[in-house]
Amino acid sequence: MDSTEQNSGTSEAFDKGEEARYLRHFTLPEIGREGQRRLKEASVLVVGAGGLGSPALLYLAAAGVGRIGIIDFDIVDASNLQRQIIYGEADIGRAKALAAGEHLRSLNPYVRVESYDMRLNATNVMSAVRGYDLVLDGSDNFAAKYALNDACVLQSIPLVIAGIYRFEGQMTVIQAPTSPCYRCLFPEVPDASGMPNCAETGVAGPLPGIVGSLQAMEAVKLLVGIGSTLSGKLLVFDALSMSSRSFNFDFDPACLLCSAAALITSPMDYAAGCAAAQPAAEAPLLSAAELRTMMTQRDSLTLIDVREEAEYAAGHLAGAMVIPLGRLTQELDSLRSLNNIVVYCHSGRRSLQAASILQQANIPMLGSLKGGLLQWPDAELEGRPE
Ligand SMILES: [Zn+2]
Repeated sequence: MDSTEQNSGTSEAFDKGEEARYLRHFTLPEIGREGQRRLKEASVLVVGAGGLGSPALLYLAAAGVGRIGIIDFDIVDASNLQRQIIYGEADIGRAKALAAGEHLRSLNPYVRVESYDMRLNATNVMSAVRGYDLVLDGSDNFAAKYALNDACVLQSIPLVIAGIYRFEGQMTVIQAPTSPCYRCLFPEVPDASGMPNCAETGVAGPLPGIVGSLQAMEAVKLLVGIGSTLSGKLLVFDALSMSSRSFNFDFDPACLLCSAAALITSPMDYAAGCAAAQPAAEAPLLSAAELRTMMTQRDSLTLIDVREEAEYAAGHLAGAMVIPLGRLTQELDSLRSLNNIVVYCHSGRRSLQAASILQQANIPMLGSLKGGLLQWPDAELEGRPE
């Protein structure tokens, strides 16, 4: 048996297709067959199949990571295609986790792909990351980053965490218990009200491509066990000046999670200023068919379009008023006297946040349009330009 095992560690670990596919890795002494075998036996969970997740997923699958999990609750929107390169025109309206999974399988049939069309939150994050060798954060909000940090530190799973804003990218690697954690670096969760609205903040298309590719590179190094990583270092990349710097950071002796003074024993829940990791609103989700029925049967329906004014002007549901999400909290008092409120937006994402804001203000409502106006025929919208 000894000789067979030795063989399986070398040439027989790969079939003919893999031999051809991974040739450039085999040729690199730092990776070679042993490194490729480690990649094949490894599992990576990518949270967020958006701007960062797209290139990260593509490179991890191409590199031959044996098992890849994808978590995303969103659906593909036309405005994603400017940077989320794992999707094509035909994917618009499809669940991201499923569409991304399909693309990975066609890229590399040797990879086992698991798609989770769900929203990550403080409650499900512990079980979501369990069993993976590494987690790659492609989320766009602080709540998800802190939840991932907490879960990965508590379970000692390496986490490659990154964020982008306009032309700048930041990235670090958390490797508990040997490296400081995200809370050591940023002890305070930024105030939600001070955070930019995802829908309104622009981002230069190639930037998440660069940063997501860097994340994939760190993941491959960690899985193969080569080089030095960004553990304990924050990399800041500025695309406008095409320069990067890295800063060392240390354990925070007062860190609530990883210090001797730690108080956190399970991931903490934060109201996300920027969608994604916010727990699903309790408000019912209405299908387009359900809303259509309501619109014909109820006189006192209050339709609120929470997109921007310009989006509203380009076409909206008949009879709807517009209150952009960013203004909603200032308008709450004027909504208290209205009946049968239904909120909607372009894809159903902003309206979920709006529903959550209304509920926190104890304003009764019927629900949020699932999938947004993407589920509604353009021809039936009111106010469309000729
Ligand atoms: Zn810490």
